[in-house]
Amino acid sequence: MRKKLKSILGWFGFHIDPEQKTAFDVVCGMELKSFSIKQASPYKGETYYFCSESCKDHFDADPKKYIG
Ligand SMILES: [Zn+2]
Repeated sequence: MRKKLKSILGWFGFHIDPEQKTAFDVVCGMELKSFSIKQASPYKGETYYFCSESCKDHFDADPKKYIG
C-alpha cells in the first residue's frame, strides 16, 4: 500500500507539464490543477489523472470507454 502511494506521487511530479501544472480527467471531463488531482492510473504507457477515487474506479473498470 505504501509503495503504491509513493509511485502515485512520483507520477505527479514526472508527467505534469511544469509550466501548466494541469491534467485532464477523462472520466468527468474536468481540467485538473495539480492540487486537485487525487488519483492517478497508468494505462498503456500513459498516466491518467483523476479528481476523485470514483473517477479512477470508473476508468480502471473500463479504460477503453474513456480513451477510445
Ligand atoms: Zn473526475
